[in-house]
This record gives sequence, C-alpha cells and structure tokens, in this order.
Amino acid sequence: MNIKCSTCKTRKAVTRLHYSGRDLCKNCFKKLFYSRAWKANRVHKFLRRGDKIIVAVSGGKDSAATLHVLKKMSEKIGKIKLVPVLIDEGIKGYRDKAITQAKKLCKKEGLKLTVVSFKKIYGASLDQMLHLRKKKTGSCSLCGVFRKHALNKTAVKLKANKVATGHNADDIAQTLLMNIMRKDPQGIARFGPTSGMIENGFVPRIKPLIYNLEKECALYCLLSDLPIHLSQCPNSHESIRGEIRDFLNTQEEKRPGTKFNLVQSCIELQKTALKKNTKTKTGKCTACNSNSSTKTCKACQYLKQLRLAK
Ligand code: SF4
Ligand code: ZN
Repeated sequence: MNIKCSTCKTRKAVTRLHYSGRDLCKNCFKKLFYSRAWKANRVHKFLRRGDKIIVAVSGGKDSAATLHVLKKMSEKIGKIKLVPVLIDEGIKGYRDKAITQAKKLCKKEGLKLTVVSFKKIYGASLDQMLHLRKKKTGSCSLCGVFRKHALNKTAVKLKANKVATGHNADDIAQTLLMNIMRKDPQGIARFGPTSGMIENGFVPRIKPLIYNLEKECALYCLLSDLPIHLSQCPNSHESIRGEIRDFLNTQEEKRPGTKFNLVQSCIELQKTALKKNTKTKTGKCTACNSNSSTKTCKACQYLKQLRLAK
C-alpha cells in the first residue's frame, strides 16, 4: 500500500507513529527526529559555545544517532568540540565487533575515536571480572558502575566539560520504573535528563535523545546510512531491564504514548527531587580521588571485592 506522508503530503510514508497517528516519509521523519534533539537542548540547556563534549559511543544505534545529531547541532551552534570515546569493557565476540562499526561511524563523521579499555584502567576485562565476582553481583551492575567511572575519569583527563550519552525515551522510562521498584528516589534525581549536573563535581551528562523512542533511533540510523552493530550483549539476559523493556513495549502497544508519559513524569519527579534538595553529598573517593558520596566510590568497592585494587 502506498501511504502518503501526513506532513509533506507528497512523499511515500516509511513509518507510522502510533502515538500520534501520523505516517511520515524518510525526510519528514529525519527532520522530526532531529527537531526533538533541539527540543531537548532548548528545554534542558545542553549545548553552549565553548563546550568540549565527550560523546560515549558503543557501536550501537543509540550512540550512533547521538553522535550524528550532535555533530550537526554543534556545527550550527559553533565552537563546540566533540570527542567520541568508546569504553571497551572486554566482552569477547560482542564489543570487538561493535568497535569496528564505531570506528567506521567516526570516520564518516570526520572525528577520531578514542578507545579506553577496562583492561587498561582496571587490570581486567569485564569477562575476567565476571569470573572473579561474587555470585550476587549482576554483570550489568558491575559493567554499569565501571563504565560510568571510566567515562568520568576519561572526561576529567581530557578536560571535557560534558559527557553526552545515547539514552533514549525507552531508557528513561525503564530506569524510572527500575528506580521506583528499588525505592530509590535519589536514583531518579541522578538519572533524569540533566543528571550529573546535580552531583557536584561530576562531569555533567547530557542526553539529546530523550524525546525519541528506541525504535526511532534504529530507524534514524538506517535512513541516515550510519554504520551500527545490532547484536545484543551476551550478558543482557541477566538484567531486570530486559523484563521491564518487554513490559513497556506491551504497554506502548496497548496504550501508545506510555513511554513519552513516563519520560515527562521522570522530568517532573527530577525537578521535585532537586527542589527538595536531595542532592548527593559529594566528597572524594579515598582510593581513586574521583567524586563519591561514600568514602570509597562504588567502582573502588567492586575492585576490592574482585581483588583487583592496586
Ligand atoms: Fe554491560 Fe550489561 Fe550492557 Fe552487556 S548488557 S554491555 S554487561 S551493561
Ligand atoms: Zn574510587
């Protein structure tokens, strides 16, 4: 069937947005996707002239779309330096393939990719850490803590003033539900669109894609010919996030717009949390000197448990 685009009324539609009942052609979809990144920038004041921004790339679709839109936006604003950084956790058969795609992407964008490995920073890859861990420590908890730590460390080392991540509307909605289930209101304050800015001393994180759905990120990459790696991490089955993702996908199908409503709720809850001054007290980790609300940061606590502390 040849459905026409609801916006330009001339070209053939390539996708249907169920939450708004619109059908869009390639051009109008890409424009909408890009305009939502500008909306995120306008609402949350992400970009400024003079910024040096680390863009966390993984080889996957979300970070590829982030790098692509940020490149266009930064050229328009001017005087913004983007530094793509890939944290290589060391997941055999998965990350190595993703690195190849990330390199291709950066080449296409005219940027040089910096690769930072767990092995180099912590003395062990994630695969090795998983052999050393205690059973109750989930692979994604370990990976997430070290990735965040490594990214922040790299940002400090490269004197960047912001870190951009590829979190999309689905990620925000999932994390909101996970934080509520864990009874962790501070988590909501930390994870909202302006996360990092409230944790004194951490390099602020920006999330330009929070108003785009995960599947829209994939479509944007496809329609923009961006090189991406599509397979799933072999450890992802261990995460509760997968269950929440399935639940939210079902809800979105039954009640289109659910994910965007959750994103908006997260933004409102973050504002309330900030007003109530639920700021994380930050000091310095006594082991690695990075910012931490506890005596030693979570990454250093894990290193001790894994007997990798220097
Ligand atoms: Fe790391 Fe878990 Fe993501 Fe795999 S699925 S890259 S282990 S956080
Ligand atoms: Zn530390």
